[in-house]
Amino acid sequence: MKTKLNRKQFLRLTAAGALGYYVYGCNQKTEQAPLSKASKQPLPTSTSKANSNSHVQYFAKGSRDYDYLREGFNKRVQKYPAVIAQCTDVEGVAEAVRYAREHSLAVAVKSGGHCFEGFSSNNGGLVVNCSSIDAVEWLDDTTVRIGAGCKLGNVYAELLSKNRILPAGSCAGVGVAGLTLGGGYGLFSRKLGLTCDSLQAVTMVDGNGNIHEATKDEELLWACRGGGNGNFGIITHLTFTTHQSPKFLTAHRFKSKGLNAQQATSIVEQWFTATRQLPESCFSAFVLNGTSLLILLTNTEEDSPHVRSVIQQLTACTSTTSLGNPKPPESAITTFYGRTESLYFKNASAGLYKDFSDIQPFIQQALEIVTTTPGMIYQVNTLGGAIQRPEFEQVSSYPHRSYSYLSELQTYWERPQQTQHYEQAFQKVQTIFASNHITTQYRNYPDINVSNWQQSYYGNNYSRLQAIKKQYDPDNIIRHEQSVLLQST
Ligand SMILES: Cc1cc2nc3c(=O)[nH]c(=O)nc-3n(C[C@H](O)[C@H](O)[C@H](O)COP(=O)(O)OP(=O)(O)OC[C@H]3O[C@@H](n4cnc5c(N)ncnc54)[C@H](O)[C@@H]3O)c2cc1C
Repeated sequence: MKTKLNRKQFLRLTAAGALGYYVYGCNQKTEQAPLSKASKQPLPTSTSKANSNSHVQYFAKGSRDYDYLREGFNKRVQKYPAVIAQCTDVEGVAEAVRYAREHSLAVAVKSGGHCFEGFSSNNGGLVVNCSSIDAVEWLDDTTVRIGAGCKLGNVYAELLSKNRILPAGSCAGVGVAGLTLGGGYGLFSRKLGLTCDSLQAVTMVDGNGNIHEATKDEELLWACRGGGNGNFGIITHLTFTTHQSPKFLTAHRFKSKGLNAQQATSIVEQWFTATRQLPESCFSAFVLNGTSLLILLTNTEEDSPHVRSVIQQLTACTSTTSLGNPKPPESAITTFYGRTESLYFKNASAGLYKDFSDIQPFIQQALEIVTTTPGMIYQVNTLGGAIQRPEFEQVSSYPHRSYSYLSELQTYWERPQQTQHYEQAFQKVQTIFASNHITTQYRNYPDINVSNWQQSYYGNNYSRLQAIKKQYDPDNIIRHEQSVLLQST
């Protein structure tokens, strides 16, 4: 059951949790398609198409469960596909693609449904819904094959029960497929790399409805490691090498309230300095939520003298410090699992940075808007560490490894009538970044308004991705507003 929050509670939520993002973030309950909201029965049996079978069921507008299956995590983006194909296996996905071709329908792909811009749905086309393909299968003690629809909360639960881990994102409701295909970072990435760096094989249905088992196809795997979101195929299963789970995770928190833009600017500069040489076991996030600041510092090892000096620096520039205790990872990560309801929001990448000098000339101007817009959050996360290993770079299309920081602008509101106001405020901040040449962006944090998204998301790898597109989806059946375009178009 959804809990209605009053305005005060709503605003407080962003300040209360570890990261504003994660506090708002997740949608485990509403994304567990295909259960009917009313009945909570397993897979619905009444469908709109006679040709439904055990591999795929089709839901047309007006049919039972259509609206439920249509929903994404972001209430701001509402789309109405002609047909939703609820697939239970790779054969069902192949059938759905052939069905779409027969009926000249564009195909969008949905796994966890957490895309910021609703690229996992479309208007008038067919949505391949992978949410039921969610099994976790161990191939040996360290290798796991995961269905595209599996959510991170279930991935962590299964892996941690065997003392294994993937360096994935924090929110329990995010789909492993969408996350991995765009890169995927989280608390363990500076130690273990991006999620896509652990990807070893995929099962994929291409735009002709053909099934590919890619275990050694280095070019296709290269493309799936950072460039695979709804671009050239539907990945139904992902095989990963898992890693030894850390023994514990410690989370330290530093807070300040009532900040103006000048004060926030001074602190963010000090945060960049303090986090420049973090050990790989650490992750940090600077989260400015209106006038309230939270800095998170996590560590999967004992705090070294260097980390203790970082703690001192962060303590000196904020008002309150709460030092965490080491906790088993299975309980520590649930702190970041976040909320369960879908939300109205506009979030996007606000640039990848090498260091503070990238934003120094204009960041105060941007923070003037953040600190005077309740519901707006400016967050910067540490990347770097293992993410920058050359051996990962060589085999993946994720193009931004030299950037040690990733920022995200977030805006949340309660009612549809507020959308325009928040979108405008959001755009003002993004314009400040863009006009100051911050154009390198994270594909998993897409923004429909980004010009030259091809270069921003994929850098110099774009034309190589276009060749993959041509090979696997020559008729551009699989597409969304910012999918890789065929070379000829
Ligand atoms: C609350 C929240 C928390 C987040 N936390 C993190 C985080 O900690 N770290 C991080 O890196 N990112 C994070 N993200 C961003 C997240 O990685 C992306 O939104 C991701 O694309 C979501 O994947 P999904 O499967 O849930 O979404 P979907 O909406 O289902 O899909 C997202 C994109 O991937 C494509 N896609 C989905 N499934 C497939 C498939 N099977 N085959 C081919 N293409 C497919 C779709 O076309 C779409 O473009 C977060 C997002 C939210 C909303």
